[in-house]
Amino acid sequence: MATTPSDDSATPITVLGLGAMGSAIARTFLDRGHPVTVWNRTAAKAVPLAEAGAATAATAAEAAAASPLVVACLLDHEAAEEVLADVGGAAAGKVLVNLTSGSPAQAREAARWAGEHGAEYIDGGIMADPPDLGTPHAHFSFSGSRAAFDAHEATLRELGTGTYYGADAGLASVEFMAQVATAYELLIGFLHTLRLVRAEGADPAEFADRVADSVADDYPALLRGIGKAVRDGAFPPDMGPLSVQAALMDDLIDHRRSLGVDTTRMREVKHLMDRRIADGHGDEGFSGLFPVLGDGS
Ligand code: NDP
Repeated sequence: MATTPSDDSATPITVLGLGAMGSAIARTFLDRGHPVTVWNRTAAKAVPLAEAGAATAATAAEAAAASPLVVACLLDHEAAEEVLADVGGAAAGKVLVNLTSGSPAQAREAARWAGEHGAEYIDGGIMADPPDLGTPHAHFSFSGSRAAFDAHEATLRELGTGTYYGADAGLASVEFMAQVATAYELLIGFLHTLRLVRAEGADPAEFADRVADSVADDYPALLRGIGKAVRDGAFPPDMGPLSVQAALMDDLIDHRRSLGVDTTRMREVKHLMDRRIADGHGDEGFSGLFPVLGDGS
C-alpha cells in the first residue's frame, strides 16, 4: 500500500462517474498529484473536483480521450454499459479500470467490450467506504490484463491495498462478491440476534462490544480452519462435535420463538446438523455441514 505519490504520479487519469465513490477516487488521485479529468452524467457533481484542480469534460468520450488511464465507477453494470457505449471509439489505446460493482460474468462482458474497442481492461472490486480511499483500510481486488496492471499497479495502489487475482477479468468480482456476501450472511444473523438481546432487556451496544472482542479473538483461527477443512474435505470437530452442538439447537430455536424473533436460519442449521448426524458424521464439527449445503434437499 502506497499512501505517498508513486513514481508514475504524473500519469493523467480520467474518472467516469462522480458519485460518492467516484468522487473519492478522483480526489485521491488529485491529492497524489495526477492530472485528473472528470465526467459525470449530472454535471454539478464535478464542480467541487474542478475547484480542487480537475479538468471537466462535457462528454464521457471527451473525458476518456484526455488520459491513458480511464477509471469508471458507476452505480452498476447497466450504468457502466451506458457510459461505455458513449465512450465508444475513444476507448482505443486506453487502459480501462472498471471499479463498478458487478458479477464475474458482467466483468467478463466489460472485458470483451474493451477488447473489441482496442482497450486493455482491468476489473476491480472496492471493499471500502469512500472516506477510506487513499488509506490502507481501503481494500481492492483487481483482475484482467496483466500487462496493464503491471504498468499501473503503483497508481492503483494509491487508492488503497490491492490484490491482483489473475488475467481472467471475472476474478476480482469473485473475490468482491464473496467478501460482500460473507458480510451480509454474517451480519443478518447478528442483526437477528440483536433483536433477541434487546427483547431480553440487555443492552445491544454493550453486547456488540463483547461480540466484537470475541470475533477479534476467536474468529480468525475458526475461519481459517473452516476454509482449510472445506478445501481438504476433512472436517475436524471445530466448535465441538455436531452431536453435541445439535443438542443445543432446539433450545436456541425455542428461545428465539418465545421472543418473536425469526427462527429461519437457526432451523436451517438444525436441519443440516440432523442430516449430517443421520449420515454418520456426528463427530465432525460445524464445517462438516459444508457437504450438505446447497443440494436443495
Ligand atoms: P452513487 O449512487 O453515489 O453514484 C452512482 C454514480 O453512477 C453517479 O455518478 C451516477 O451519476 C452514475 N450513474 C448511475 N446511473 C447512471 C447511468 N444510467 N448513466 C450514467 N451514469 C449513471 O454510488 P457510489 O459512487 O457510492 O458507488 C459507485 C460504485 O462503487 C457502485 O458500483 C458501488 O457498488 C461501488 N462501491 C461503493 C461503495 C460505497 O460505500 N459508496 C463501497 C464499495 C463499492 P449521477 O450523479 O448522474 O446520478
